[in-house]
Amino acid sequence: MPKVLIVGAGLSGLSTAYALKDSNFDIEILEARSRPGGRIYTKKTNSVHLELGATWFGPQHTSLLALVRNLEIPYKQQENGREALYDFRPKGSVERFQIPTQGSPTFKFENGTSELINKLKQESSVKIHYDKVVKSVKFNDRFYVETEHNQFEADYLVISIPVQLIADSIEFEPHLSESSKVLFSNTHTWMSDSIKFSVAFDSDFWKKDGFIGTLMSPQQIIQEMYDHSDVNTSQNALVGFLNSGYSKLSEEDRKTQVLKHFKSVFSNKTAPSLSYADVNWRDEKFTVHEKAELLVPHQNNGNPRLREGFYNNSLFFSASETAAQTPGYMDGAVHRGLEVGELLLNKLT
Ligand SMILES: Cc1cc2nc3c(=O)[nH]c(=O)nc-3n(C[C@H](O)[C@H](O)[C@H](O)COP(=O)(O)OP(=O)(O)OC[C@H]3O[C@@H](n4cnc5c(N)ncnc54)[C@H](O)[C@@H]3O)c2cc1C
Repeated sequence: MPKVLIVGAGLSGLSTAYALKDSNFDIEILEARSRPGGRIYTKKTNSVHLELGATWFGPQHTSLLALVRNLEIPYKQQENGREALYDFRPKGSVERFQIPTQGSPTFKFENGTSELINKLKQESSVKIHYDKVVKSVKFNDRFYVETEHNQFEADYLVISIPVQLIADSIEFEPHLSESSKVLFSNTHTWMSDSIKFSVAFDSDFWKKDGFIGTLMSPQQIIQEMYDHSDVNTSQNALVGFLNSGYSKLSEEDRKTQVLKHFKSVFSNKTAPSLSYADVNWRDEKFTVHEKAELLVPHQNNGNPRLREGFYNNSLFFSASETAAQTPGYMDGAVHRGLEVGELLLNKLT
């Protein structure tokens, strides 16, 4: 049975494993973290789901939607309400404004985005080796892939880690061309510059005045925020993005600042917070290298050269940013992950 090794158990790598599930390939995944999902991360704490990575999708995300329907994963529409708050401080005050009617709906998963990852893992029955950071790849008729303590062999290799990471973290023999390395290093990893937070409260005090949770405050710690409540689980939560100026603080200190901001917006109506979590994705070494240059959002995303096969078409790169459709997004990860699955299936015919 020909062996396929996939590097990275994110959405793209797992989509490839899913595409190959009934094939005559022997498939294994090497994953650097001790969890699957990569930039998809739903933290379950005190019986609430805190969404710290990818959350939203739309009708234009056709590959993702088809997969989600196939896997029968429940999703729902994001409610943003009719009115939002805009925090103009320090040069103004906190004001309400009408949200324009949305052209098309925004969806999110009912039980958190990680349900997509768990379902793919389960349906593909793929073996995942956790805590395996791939350091080098040698190709000599077969692949010899090295992590710190182990070596794995394969006939085909799929590298589904963010391409900007590749040149700084994996050695290749024969070497990749200089132009490929330059392209990889200059391909932006979508959302890797963000700090995402989620907070759950005892009560949904923000809804008392008919305000559903949408807040814009460009000069404060919370830059944008949306409702993340769930009537089925009685979860009263909010989710959003923090100002990158607070990236040097610890998570605990950011929590203190976030709750202070809440108090200043909602005065003494706030309830005690049940759970808080955030992720500064810029510090996540398996998402972006510490030495990586700051790039323009979506720079080189979808570049056709990222979809070229290497070493006689037995090595493919497949992270979301390589996709021809909606690169950088969950939909791109699914689109490209399934496409690489198809390319490999064609090798068997
Ligand atoms: C905060 C945030 C919010 C987002 N919001 C949205 C959203 O609302 N909607 C949307 O569509 N998209 C969103 N995205 C983007 C979305 O998360 C990604 O498009 C998608 O998850 C990418 O999947 P991937 O498998 O291509 O890459 P990744 O999820 O990055 O997976 C790569 C995997 O490779 C592993 N890895 C890395 N290096 C190595 C190594 N050397 N050896 C072994 N394994 C390695 C990583 O640990 C990881 O598991 C968001 C992303 C972030 C960070």
